[in-house]
Amino acid sequence: YADSAMYKSKQSGRNNFQFYTDELNRRLMERLDMEYRLRQALEHDEFLLHFQPKLAFASGNICGAEALIRWRPAGGGMVSPADFIPVAEETGLIVDIGQWVLHSACRQAVRLNAMAGRELPIAVNVSPRQFRQSDLVSRVRSALQHSGLNPACLELEITESSLVHDTGSFIKTLQELKTLGVKLAIDDFGTGYSSMAYLKDFPVDRLKIDQAFVSRLETESSNIAILKAIIALGHSLNMKVIAEGVETAYQQAFLHGIGCDELQGYFFSKPLPVEAFEKLLGD
Ligand code: C2E
Ligand code: MG
Ligand code: MG
Ligand code: MG
Repeated sequence: YADSAMYKSKQSGRNNFQFYTDELNRRLMERLDMEYRLRQALEHDEFLLHFQPKLAFASGNICGAEALIRWRPAGGGMVSPADFIPVAEETGLIVDIGQWVLHSACRQAVRLNAMAGRELPIAVNVSPRQFRQSDLVSRVRSALQHSGLNPACLELEITESSLVHDTGSFIKTLQELKTLGVKLAIDDFGTGYSSMAYLKDFPVDRLKIDQAFVSRLETESSNIAILKAIIALGHSLNMKVIAEGVETAYQQAFLHGIGCDELQGYFFSKPLPVEAFEKLLGD
């Protein structure tokens, strides 16, 4: 009896192992396939940028926009960055994709500034892997030079996860970027764990409160204390504080009430194709 039980467990162990490797193979194949398609996408120009406006509470005006990448494969529907940025990050393709985003955003920002008749900062997301490339600063400099964009009209959104081990080199890169004249923001603030102690040493202009805090505003009153603390912290360090993922009138009014500077979210506008964004600016 004992023997047969052991036999059974060995048997099912083998099955589990089989299942496990099948699953790994499947994921590996999927990743390789996605990597191949992303390379093709770069070559065939299948990426585009959508722009989501940011609204300043004080003036009630649009005070900038975030450029968000979209992928439209030939003959297919739009693929969300949530589905391909992680693969791009893992495979390192993010460096080339990020390069495309930088150049494209700077070029379009020049046009948007001209259209709006004022300087409208455009924010670009920089992924952790991209941030850690030793030539990031020179890539940003060359995107500015090629486009002729005023550096103050480019904002780089960096997440706390870009800071993995070495705070010193993280801060050094921020300082070098700052020297170019670009604006810096910490994206998804409050979800990482690294920055509280070092935030005062980050030469950043803006904190973007993660949408998780905003979306739970109505249901979890403990979030109110956190939101107020983030806003006070940002202001005490001379940073602007923007809330992302604002979806309701309640959230908007509440954030305004507690001194948040800016908002971004579906309540005001979803990310828009560039033509629609231009139209919004013209209105
Ligand atoms: P993120 O930088 O935090 O961007 C904000 C995300 O929240 C965007 O999703 C935006 O469409 C979405 N959002 C804005 N307002 C609302 C709202 O009111 N409610 C809800 N539920 N969502 C809202 P998206 O465009 O799908 O991008 C997802 C993430 O993918 C971004 O998060 C960013 O981490 C990454 N990503 C997007 N574009 C790029 C890019 O060009 N480069 C890199 N490296 N990452 C990018
Ligand atoms: Mg962002
Ligand atoms: Mg964010
Ligand atoms: Mg996010």
